[in-house]
Formats: sequence, C-alpha cells, structure tokens
Amino acid sequence: MTEFLNKNDICLVCFGSSLDSKLLKHHISYFPERVAYVHYDCHNRIHSVPLTNFIQYDEGDSRKFYDNESNKTKDQTIEARLKS
Ligand SMILES: [Zn+2]
Ligand SMILES: [Zn+2]
Repeated sequence: MTEFLNKNDICLVCFGSSLDSKLLKHHISYFPERVAYVHYDCHNRIHSVPLTNFIQYDEGDSRKFYDNESNKTKDQTIEARLKS
C-alpha cells in the first residue's frame, strides 16, 4: 500500500502551494512505497543536489519497482525518466 507523506496541494520540499506550479509524485522509498508530492522544479533539486532526506531507497530499488508491470502507471513514467 502506498503511503503519502503529504497532500497533493503542498510541496514537501518548499511547502509552496500547488497553485505555484504543478505537483508530481516523488518516491522517497519503494519498499515500502512512500510518496511525496513536490513541485516539478523541487523534484529536479531532489535528484540533482541530491536532497538525501528525500531519497531513502537503495540503488536498484526503482528498477525492481518499475520492472513490476502492475506499478507502471502514467505518473510514475516521469519518475522512471528521471531515474528516481
Ligand atoms: Zn516546491
Ligand atoms: Zn523522484
């Protein structure tokens, strides 16, 4: 079961509103699945800085996760593309 750390109207990185820019789902961990809603730009920061508070999974977990057909949804395609 997916655990959401915040609601989809506030960004967990900068606590800005979803009105500022669209929020997307970032996986903080895959096993168990924990998801945070963050701005597109904030999401880029998580992965490029990186913000380790927001990355609590092991190398390879995302591959394992997305290799599972049932987990392939439209939203998560963004994550896969960003190698999260
Ligand atoms: Zn933000
Ligand atoms: Zn991500």
